[in-house]
Amino acid sequence: MKLVTFSTGSAQRVGVVDAERGVVRDLAGVLPEGFGVLDLIERWAEFGPQLEQRAAGQPEHPLEEVRLLAPIPAPRRDVFCVGKNYREHVVEFGRSGYDSPDRSEALPEAPVVFSKATTSVTGPFDDIEPHRGVTEELDYEAELGVIIGRGGRGIPREQAFDHVWGYTIIDDVTARDLQRTHKQWLLGKSLDTHCPMGPYAVSADEIPDVTALVVESRVNGEPRQSAPLKDLIFDIPELIATISAGITLLPGDVIATGTPAGVGIGFDPPRFLASGDVVEVSVSGLGTQRNRIA
Ligand code: MG
Repeated sequence: MKLVTFSTGSAQRVGVVDAERGVVRDLAGVLPEGFGVLDLIERWAEFGPQLEQRAAGQPEHPLEEVRLLAPIPAPRRDVFCVGKNYREHVVEFGRSGYDSPDRSEALPEAPVVFSKATTSVTGPFDDIEPHRGVTEELDYEAELGVIIGRGGRGIPREQAFDHVWGYTIIDDVTARDLQRTHKQWLLGKSLDTHCPMGPYAVSADEIPDVTALVVESRVNGEPRQSAPLKDLIFDIPELIATISAGITLLPGDVIATGTPAGVGIGFDPPRFLASGDVVEVSVSGLGTQRNRIA
């Protein structure tokens, strides 16, 4: 099932998308008032099984006539992120000199985990703010986002997928100068609008083999990144086991799994994003997001 948060005016609504027919079905009539995608994921055992059936007959809108917001527009807490999780990206990042304080092309021995502030989340077709004066070195990072369903602590590798609700697309937009200057990555990763999410939250039952998905990006139509999920250095079970070892994962938590080679700092000289540029990020089966640098 492809869930969306959408609006036709001012109010946020939850819908289920039929991508082939290009329509979104409004779930307001079958969910408690004020229910968001996050609530739905949290109470999936109760609402999920009958949802498609109950959605039939509810009002529908053509997708092009609604505004899609991030499927989880206001996450409960920061988006978990993983750095340096594709081999060739580790090399391009190390060579670039932006990997402060490490500056190393060596593969990490353990997952590199950081986070993006909740307020960085924006819609899949919204403008990305350039934040000129704060950063002059704006970059894109196409990533698969894992959405946690059932929470837990100390989740073993073997049970990790029991805790996955589904998947979405994340562009881990990065202010490279802030990332380098401040040593710790939070500032460089968390500027407002620097976490486009969506268009859909896709339930795991639609993705029989997540390792077969391909993560891609284009800038102004030019292909920049393309890699299958099977290239991850630390796979999804490893990431869930690592993060949950001492931190309780909560329903609706999002883990951005890392970006493949081909980001702006992978070029010499670096190719940073400029105002007017259009970044598209796709993951097979999960759709495409398209964001213009304002
Ligand atoms: Mg990233």
